[in-house]
Amino acid sequence: MNTIDWKNLPFGYFKTDYNVRCFFRNNEWGQLEISSSEYVNIHMAATALHYGQEAFEGLKAFRGKDGKVRIFRLEENAKRMQNSAFGIMMAHIPTELFREAVLKAVKMNERYIPPYGEGASLYIRPVLFGSGPQVGVKPASEYLFIVFVGPVGPYFKEGFNPVSIQIVRDFDRAAPLGTGCYKVGGNYAASLRAGERAHDEGFASVLFLDAKEKKYIDEAGPANFFGIKDNKYITPSSNSILPSITNMSLRKLAEDIGLTVEQRHVSVEELADFEEVGACGTAAVISPIKRIQDRDTKEEYLYCKDGKAGPVSTKLYNMLRAIQEGEVEDKYNWNTIVE
Ligand SMILES: *Cc1c(COP(=O)(O)O)cnc(C)c1O
Repeated sequence: MNTIDWKNLPFGYFKTDYNVRCFFRNNEWGQLEISSSEYVNIHMAATALHYGQEAFEGLKAFRGKDGKVRIFRLEENAKRMQNSAFGIMMAHIPTELFREAVLKAVKMNERYIPPYGEGASLYIRPVLFGSGPQVGVKPASEYLFIVFVGPVGPYFKEGFNPVSIQIVRDFDRAAPLGTGCYKVGGNYAASLRAGERAHDEGFASVLFLDAKEKKYIDEAGPANFFGIKDNKYITPSSNSILPSITNMSLRKLAEDIGLTVEQRHVSVEELADFEEVGACGTAAVISPIKRIQDRDTKEEYLYCKDGKAGPVSTKLYNMLRAIQEGEVEDKYNWNTIVE
């Protein structure tokens, strides 16, 4: 067990000792249960399997230089899961239950929390789904909430390295008034074909446009998009974007270093004006983007001309990591310390 190669962990599933579960039945949540099984036994007519009643979250715990373990923005993830549950008519998870389940899952698997300084962290994956049977199209009356964890390496094996992405118009991730703003599995299913094709064509990810007019930038696959120009941090606003907690945090840090934050429509043409662009999310914090190719017109937008991430992206990335790893004061109280 002391043989985990922390430096070479991928971003993927890693079996740990325990997970935490809770059933919602007869209109109430039961007791938190601790399980050492990786499997669930559910009804074959569960609504998660037939009608896509499923939502998830992703957050991380970090071991700091001082040895303390910090979980980043747990309450925001709880809120977002509540919103996703509302959006697809699943049982509401009280913030206290979410917190208790996450803390228990982290503590029970303490030995899998990577040491400080390896660039690795403990990824926490809460998942909520309709486990009760239904064949008519209706919400389930039984739900299962599970939290499992696993150590993950830095998203980019070579470190903070710029990637290429591809604008597509022949796929949409979410409809304008659909479920794009909820963290539900269905949006991911809808994005897989475009994502795999982008990989095959040599790109790290897809850049989706707004589904209605195909004029504005929506999201960079499973990450939010931002651009930097004229001392401004600019990120798209749209009903079909998943509100990234990393993006929310970067907006705050951007203001702290004197940037103006704009959340508004960002047209494809505006890509030509940005000094830096990036994708943001829990997995990588920031993926700097060096090249965006329009799959239809073949137009290219190039950044990071010296091969490195831009100065503003680098600064924001370092600021966020320093808070997560307890190297600077957590002045907004973003961390939950695991006692
Ligand atoms: C989870 C997710 C993100 C990133 O959100 P974070 O809270 O920053 O991890 C962005 N886009 C989509 C579609 C997501 O599912």
